[in-house]
Amino acid sequence: MATELPLDAPMVETLAALREAEAACTRCPLHRNATLVVPGEGPDTARLMLVGEQPGDQEDLSGKPFVGPAGKLLDRAIAEAGIDRREVFVTNAVKHFKWEARGKRRLHKKPNAHEIERCRWWNDLERALVKPDLVVALGATAAASLLGRTVTLARTRGTALTARDGTALLVTVHPSYLLRLRGEADRTREYAAFVADLALAARRLRSAA
Ligand code: SF4
Repeated sequence: MATELPLDAPMVETLAALREAEAACTRCPLHRNATLVVPGEGPDTARLMLVGEQPGDQEDLSGKPFVGPAGKLLDRAIAEAGIDRREVFVTNAVKHFKWEARGKRRLHKKPNAHEIERCRWWNDLERALVKPDLVVALGATAAASLLGRTVTLARTRGTALTARDGTALLVTVHPSYLLRLRGEADRTREYAAFVADLALAARRLRSAA
């Protein structure tokens, strides 16, 4: 199904124009304490779009999505799932880094429902421009943004869902979840499940081609 633009959306016709518009965004307070906006990245012809939660510390400084430790793990899993990373559009439900100071460190803070809702407008525009065949939500925040309601990952993971705009949707965990696991056995098992979810996405795309 075609993605409808938000009714009050700015007139952006390219990803470059979208990036510029996002950089000037003040729709929620998160722009105030962030360094750079982190727009989505990838080809505007991508059939697969991956949506994370929000940029992390390294993404905030570079202005690029998934360049930190979670991004490196995602790259590895994407490759193991047989997906060409260059053909994927990667983005986040929220485009500015939300953090709290802990000494000299900036610790990730989860975006709230208002911030997710305010930033959803940019994600809707991204999908309107890229028109992916399949979106994979990486974690509960992305799933909530795409579905317009909160869901339990354990219940929705691996299930064929439909985003608010009609785009086919799968839900899996965020790679940062894998980094937080302490036991080697847990990490190995959960990483394999994550790769399996991405491989399922690849199969769905092949069967829809
Ligand atoms: S987080 Fe999203 S809605 Fe909030 S200021 Fe940044 S771009 Fe705008």
